[in-house]
Amino acid sequence: MSENDKLKEASAAKTEMISIGAHQIRTALSGVKWIIKMLLDGDLGKLSVEQESILEKAQGGNERAIGIINELLLANKSEDVTEKKYSFEKVNMEEMLENVIFDFSGEARSRKIETILLKPTENLAFAKADKDKLRIVLDNLLENAIKYSSEQSKVFITLRQEDNFLEVSFKDTGIGISEAGKAKIFQKYYRDPEAEKKEAVGSGIGLYIVKKIIEAHGGKTWFESKEGEGTTFFFTIPIWA
Ligand code: ADP
Repeated sequence: MSENDKLKEASAAKTEMISIGAHQIRTALSGVKWIIKMLLDGDLGKLSVEQESILEKAQGGNERAIGIINELLLANKSEDVTEKKYSFEKVNMEEMLENVIFDFSGEARSRKIETILLKPTENLAFAKADKDKLRIVLDNLLENAIKYSSEQSKVFITLRQEDNFLEVSFKDTGIGISEAGKAKIFQKYYRDPEAEKKEAVGSGIGLYIVKKIIEAHGGKTWFESKEGEGTTFFFTIPIWA
């Protein structure tokens, strides 16, 4: 085996180890997340105002820890999405959005943010997508919308069909993106100064990966944003013809 191959093998082993460890930590944190949710929902009896407020703090801390692990997993995966390992299938976008919204309900609740899904009443076409990769996109965009929004606000997730594409958008009323940042937002590791101030947890790798994944699907990613007012991220993905 050449030196280069040995290095590659060692690096792959390390990537694998980080991934296994991070997934185990995330599973443990998810367990805690569900216990806190049960308590907050009153499943084990009514809570006093003080008990509820302390549990909400625990929920916030737990969600932040999950956020850090997700960033770590993402950074670990960032090479993956640039390779051509995609397997496309028929995907129900509405169902995927509902799942993602459900999974982020703890995070949204701990920040007093309401997430609202807007969709047409008629049935939409299926998307032609790699489900696991698409999930990374949805996780990132919803996480950002919640993370960079102001407390007690609403995040709107809109799904619609436009010819042979499904269009999904995430609209928040948060910090917005600076004029200088607009050109750099999809670059690897770029974070706006305001975003760094608001949220210590972040790597600036998420949107870079989002764009790569959407491109690999033959779709487009873009945004509209006003500093201090809010941001909407959009992407399109081809329908299953
Ligand atoms: P991270 O959130 O880990 O910093 P991302 O790659 O997901 O990394 O986002 C890169 C940067 O884009 C963020 O640091 C932030 O400056 C900006 N950004 C992303 N989403 C939003 C949003 N919804 N509102 C305001 N800024 C955003």
